[in-house]
Amino acid sequence: MEITTPVNRVPRVGPAYARRLEKLGIKTVEDLLYHFPFRYEDLTKVQSISEIQYGQLAVIKGSVWQIKSLRTRYGKFLTLATVNDGSGTIQAVWFNQPYITKNLKNGLRVVFAGKVDDFNHLPTLMSPEYEVVREDGRKGIHTERLVPVYPETAGISSKWLRSRLKPLLDIFSDRLIDFLPPEITRTKKLLDLSESIRQIHFPDNVDLARKARERLAFEELFLIQLNALRRKEEWKKSQGGKAFKVDEKMVSELLESLPFELTTAQDRCVKEILTDISRKEPMNRLLEGDVGSGKTIVAAIAMYVIYLNGFQSTMMAPTEILAQQHFKTVSSLLSSFGVKVGLQTGSKKWKEDFDILVGTHALLSSKVEFKNLGLIVIDEQHRFGVAQRADLRQKGQTPHILTMTATPIPRTMALTLYGDLNLSVIDEMPQGRIKIKTYVITKEKREDAYSFLKNKVKSGQQAFIICPLIEPSETLSTARSAKKEFGRLQNEIFPDLKLGLLHGQLKAKEKDEVLSQFRDKKFDILVATPVVEVGIDIPNATIMMVETSDRFGLAQLHQLRGRVGRGTQESFCLLFIENYSPEAYKRLKVMERHHLGIELAEIDLQTRGPGEIYGTAQHGIPNFKIASLTDARLIEDTRIIAEKILEDDFELQKAPLLKERLNRISSPNVSPD
Ligand code: ADP
Ligand code: MG
Repeated sequence: MEITTPVNRVPRVGPAYARRLEKLGIKTVEDLLYHFPFRYEDLTKVQSISEIQYGQLAVIKGSVWQIKSLRTRYGKFLTLATVNDGSGTIQAVWFNQPYITKNLKNGLRVVFAGKVDDFNHLPTLMSPEYEVVREDGRKGIHTERLVPVYPETAGISSKWLRSRLKPLLDIFSDRLIDFLPPEITRTKKLLDLSESIRQIHFPDNVDLARKARERLAFEELFLIQLNALRRKEEWKKSQGGKAFKVDEKMVSELLESLPFELTTAQDRCVKEILTDISRKEPMNRLLEGDVGSGKTIVAAIAMYVIYLNGFQSTMMAPTEILAQQHFKTVSSLLSSFGVKVGLQTGSKKWKEDFDILVGTHALLSSKVEFKNLGLIVIDEQHRFGVAQRADLRQKGQTPHILTMTATPIPRTMALTLYGDLNLSVIDEMPQGRIKIKTYVITKEKREDAYSFLKNKVKSGQQAFIICPLIEPSETLSTARSAKKEFGRLQNEIFPDLKLGLLHGQLKAKEKDEVLSQFRDKKFDILVATPVVEVGIDIPNATIMMVETSDRFGLAQLHQLRGRVGRGTQESFCLLFIENYSPEAYKRLKVMERHHLGIELAEIDLQTRGPGEIYGTAQHGIPNFKIASLTDARLIEDTRIIAEKILEDDFELQKAPLLKERLNRISSPNVSPD
């Protein structure tokens, strides 16, 4: 067996489990070894039966005196055993596991671990984990140690994993060759690979478990950064990049023509971009800024500079409507300076003769011929994929690339995930913008909030009420569901008002229908799931109410809040919470004070971790196996080391094992396009 051997050939795995493992992305022996526990159960200390107490998790080592399975009146199985360890006896009970009598026979020495409770008026180990004591005196794997607990998904139990992993580790633990250069392991005092893999699964003690985790987190971030930096370098070294001349005087004239002054943040971003395009290495930059922070003008300035150099630009948006909007904006900014702006949409042909061509993302793959493409601006595609860049390069064009997004990605996260991009952030809103008044609403104030809403609606405004779920859920009894809440609000709270319902189970056409009715004021309140998070513009809606708001990330709440305040009227965001912890309350209160997406995303990252920022994986933020994106120091560290190693040896000729590992990883850093 090799580490690349498919898991279905691992002893006692079999095709059914191989399929389950595949769902978790585990295809090879190596993948399985890299499937880590998320915590350990401390079952190290064996206690005497005479000492144990009700309610505790007890570990007992004794002999089975008696074991039998009974059928209960309800046709279920009950397995009862008596265990003695010299200090006393205790009963053990299992439900519906009659096969246990096959494993545990009278007289066997066994370790049990389970909660002690009362059963038929006797102290009893309830459904304990059990493991026959080995004759060779070696430790068990399910008891008498720090026992690894794995995320239990896809029908794979921790017990199953432990019993498959242990023999694998015995085979591989001294065959894993460390691919990290020895200087790094030495100076960073990292555990070597074999030891780390062994200790992460079956640690000898807490300290070694921590050291294993450190090493593996280092390795994970290090590999991601190396990959990103290599991609970045390759792009930079592409042939055909153009260094453009920046005519400051002409740029100033353009700025003077604007009805406003750039914010300091916009100004800084413009400088960063213009510096990039004045260099020969092609730019690959991400411009981040909240909706309304003024990204378009920043991009337009860059396109103007490209025009002054006699080159073309293109600007691409996710939808035709947005493309049309960009076309209007860019034309009105630049036409009077002689720039010819064209629009290409599905229905409309482009002009042959353009300096800037605006269109949808499809533009790039269409047949449009660019005379000399100097800059690509992409709105809301999050990042321009590696594949598309390779495509362009093949066509012999290496334009500068500027990607724009309103998704707030904290810097540490961007550094790691998008390490091949440079980052500019507009972290400031233009002056005079009215902030959306935000309040956390506890149970006692719910009725007041409803009357407040009623008054606003009477004066002609509209409201959203967002619920976290579509249908009522058994497991999440605290979270309100859109369907049920819709009925309750319509019948009990707002019988005189007209309510609409929008959720993700509706077909696209039905959703459009509901939204256009809302826009036409066919109803006053739209009850919805978070599907309204993006891209909906209804200027007359001034109130955003969010139910069970503690279930959302702050950045996600911010995106919801951005659905109101799009007209000229004062707008409000009311965050309902019912049964909450003091921390949840404190976290939500942050929304009352902070009005910038990037700040809220940073706070999310610090308090909840990367997976929680955007609700689901919808934004393509991968799950890390072990590293944490909140560990800024480790991110910096691995970054610096990765940069240094590539600087000396870009092809990694001196580190062939590392190179081979890098080529093999199924990089979690997938392009989320
Ligand atoms: P986004 O970042 O969402 O793409 P836009 O570029 O569409 O934002 O800008 C939103 C609005 O703000 C536009 O009407 C734009 O003209 C205006 N705007 C941009 N920059 C400024 C500024 N510095 N001061 C005032 N208004 C600005
Ligand atoms: Mg925009």
